[in-house]
Amino acid sequence: MDLIRETKFIMNKYNITASKSLGQNFLVDSEVVYGIVDSAEVSKDDLIIEIGPGLGTLTSVLLEKAGKVVCIELDKRMVNIISDRFSLYSNFEVINEDVLKVSLNSIIEKNLKENNLKQAKVVANLPYYITTPIIMKLLEDRLNLSSITVMVQKEVAERLAEKPGGKESGAITYSINYFADSEIVINVPNTSFIPAPEVNSAVIKLTLLKKPRVTVIDEPTLFKVIKIAFMQKRKTLANSLYNGKILEDKEKVEEMLEKLNIDLKIRAEKLTLEQFAQIADYVKNT
Ligand code: SAM
Repeated sequence: MDLIRETKFIMNKYNITASKSLGQNFLVDSEVVYGIVDSAEVSKDDLIIEIGPGLGTLTSVLLEKAGKVVCIELDKRMVNIISDRFSLYSNFEVINEDVLKVSLNSIIEKNLKENNLKQAKVVANLPYYITTPIIMKLLEDRLNLSSITVMVQKEVAERLAEKPGGKESGAITYSINYFADSEIVINVPNTSFIPAPEVNSAVIKLTLLKKPRVTVIDEPTLFKVIKIAFMQKRKTLANSLYNGKILEDKEKVEEMLEKLNIDLKIRAEKLTLEQFAQIADYVKNT
């Protein structure tokens, strides 16, 4: 059965309509499904954390290739369907929770140990209404992950895959660059889903660095500086930092930038990650 027919069959059988508020767009393109699993280089040594398995389309391929698959799904209806569908798989587990609220760290450590697996990876077709918070949680919680391969909106993928200083760069570009190497691995049209979302999508792969790309005294200060720098897109970095009250007055901000040899007229997206790290250390020491 092809994936479109299979998806419609499952939705009919369980009387399911996709929930827009939960970001439910089910993948019905088998080339993309296999493309995601291949890009993630899933093997029997891997623990896979799948966020939002939905009807289980991606899950069924992951179960064949991975050592263990732990799914985290908020919608109880989906949990019932996949529990039914994959009841015969000994390497399947589903947790009925909000991914933003679970302790991923304990899930990963427990499963790596109990199943004697070498590494953990996240593989998912993410709910788009919370793409950025999910990715930032995965990175900022310093989870023991080797890679994150996820489907996101195309324009988000472009910002995630951009290098600092590139024309699509935003606050998240710098945060990602601090933790990982990133690349777009597949472009996906909206016709690959039921129902079709309004936007096109792309699969992005983040390969986590063994240690962050730059060293700073205090990580939260670095993320705060990056966030404030990008809060007012059209302003210069100096104005954004001053308006965001990163230091007490404008003179102090200008003095800092002069000392760090950073042009007073520069905009945030032209900075290097190293320069953000220098600003964060200066602020922390002031
Ligand atoms: N993986 C399936 C596929 O590719 O066909 C479904 C992907 S759909 C884009 C996103 C899934 O995330 C839905 O099943 C939705 O119920 C689930 N979801 C939405 N919010 C969630 C949350 N906060 N925590 C966990 N799962 C969530």
